[in-house]
This record gives sequence, C-alpha cells and structure tokens, in this order.
Amino acid sequence: MRTLKLTRFGDNMRNVAVTEGDKTEAELRFGVSVNTWSVNELADAVHGAPEYDVDALVAEYERLYEVAPELCAGGARHESLRYSARIELGLRSFLEANGSAAFTTSFEDLGALRQLPGMAVQRLMADGYGFGAEGDWKTAILVRAAKVMGAGLPGGASLMEDYTYHLTPGEEKILGAHMLEVCPSLTAAKPRVEIHPLGIGGKEDPVRMVFDTDAGPGVVVALSDMRDRFRLVANAVDVVDLEEPLPNLPVARALWEPKPDFATSAAAWLTAGAAHHTVLSTQVGMDVFEDFAEIARTELLTIDDGTTIKQFKKELAWNAAYYKLAGGL
Ligand code: MN
Repeated sequence: MRTLKLTRFGDNMRNVAVTEGDKTEAELRFGVSVNTWSVNELADAVHGAPEYDVDALVAEYERLYEVAPELCAGGARHESLRYSARIELGLRSFLEANGSAAFTTSFEDLGALRQLPGMAVQRLMADGYGFGAEGDWKTAILVRAAKVMGAGLPGGASLMEDYTYHLTPGEEKILGAHMLEVCPSLTAAKPRVEIHPLGIGGKEDPVRMVFDTDAGPGVVVALSDMRDRFRLVANAVDVVDLEEPLPNLPVARALWEPKPDFATSAAAWLTAGAAHHTVLSTQVGMDVFEDFAEIARTELLTIDDGTTIKQFKKELAWNAAYYKLAGGL
C-alpha cells in the first residue's frame, strides 16, 4: 500500500457520502496515492485499441468462458463482446501506463464509453487489481490489499455489496452482488459471459461474467472515513451454496451467513457506520486483517462468533476516546 497508485475515472456517484473520504489522509495513513483522470482519456485508449488485439482477446474469452451464443463470433450481439474486449485493452494499458494497481469507475460519468465497464473490471480484479464502483476508492484500496494478502492462496477477493436479504426466521442470509463487477476469483467454476440491459448509466447493454461464489469461510470488510480517522469493520461469514438457481439475477453473486447471527451482525455493522461496499475475501481470515490494522495503525472492529451488541457499543465508545488520545492534540 505504501507504493499503491490508484486511478479514479471520474468522481464519486452523486449523493452517496459513504463512498467519499479524505484522499490526503489516505496517503498519510496508508501511503496510497489517489488521483483522478477524465473518463474520456480512458475512452480514447479504449477506442484506440488495435483490431487484432480485440480479435485475440475475444478468442481468449471464447476459450476460457461459457460465452452466450448471441455474443460469440457470428452471433447477433458479437459486437458488444468486442466492445467489452476493447474496454479491457484500453483500461489495462491505461493503468499500466499510470503504474496503477487499483482503480474506480462511475456509471454517472462514462463520457464517450459505450458500455459501463463490466467484464473488463472483473478480469482486471481477477488479475489482482483493486476496484471500487461508483468512485469508491476506499473499497478499491481494500480490494487491492486483500488481493495481495491472499496471493497464491485458494479462494479469491472481490468488491461486494449487500444486495438483498433472505429474512426467513432462523435461516437469515445476505446476498452479495454488484451491478456487474464481481471478481471471478470467487469461484473455481467456469463463469458464463452474458449480456443484459442495465437501467442506470444510460449506455448500451454491458457484458458481464455471471457465476455463484464457492462455499466456504470468508470475511467481509468495509473501510469508513470517520472524518478524523479511518475505521475498518470486518465480519466473519460463511459463504453457502445457493439453495435455488437465481435465473432473474443477471450478475455474479455470493450468498453468506454472517457471524454470530444476522441480527447481531446487522446491528453491529450499522452501529459502526460501516459502508455498503465491501471486500469479500475467501482467501484470508480475520487474523490477517487484524495484523493489517495493527501495521496500518487503523481502528478495526470485528464482528464474529464472540460479538455481542452490549460489548460492541462499549468498544465503540472506548475506541472513540482512545483514537483521540492516541492521535494527540
Ligand atoms: Mn455499489
């Protein structure tokens, strides 16, 4: 993180304070340099990608993934897959030229881009890039950190967002997903490549990989800007298999049971002011984030089997005092 350069394409989504934060404090605390480029500079790189590179990348997609017939060569929507490959080429070359290992996009600021980057972002995350949607650079930092922490281990790490809740009493679960950008490192299965309409962003239908996250233990972590410091909140979870297929959810997803139970986890998460964007890692556990918080001298609140709301509230109050004192006047 001391050498991490993060490229923002455009600004944060409007009216979403949780994705905002103090970029200067991030550089002071973590060493991450967070800077913005115009999305049309990215669009120039995308539209300048050589045709033969697009051919080669599309052939790679057809080899690696289960590509929907309409997107394959000769299919009615093949041009959309080609454009998605173009985005990957432009994005990758732009980030390489910038020396960036993390980035953000914003669906409200797409300039001349014809699709919201979907599959391109998924592929870059799979290669170890940090990513945050809607300009969320704090989560992009976390995703990149989790990628490095877990390098070489089984499982994966991805941007995640609480999408909806399964609230049947006694079997509560959280369905995590995003509108496109979930990293395929979360599954050992072959992702499907599909195209579906996307209501927001006002651009052409974007291409995305769709898959279910493999079951197993994981940790969901958010980074909040508390105005005078950063706060990490981490929830230990069990990723579980889907009981039913989700044919009407056109994006990759993960289903998990939060520890110690849904009600306690939700109450603690909200009491801590934790964010709606997170990183889900199935590569490393809480112990690694505890080490990270200590190294980065950053507050970490953990929600796991030992958590009670009574104790958690006390911890918040003690931490508020401690970090003011430890920071000095
Ligand atoms: Mn989001």
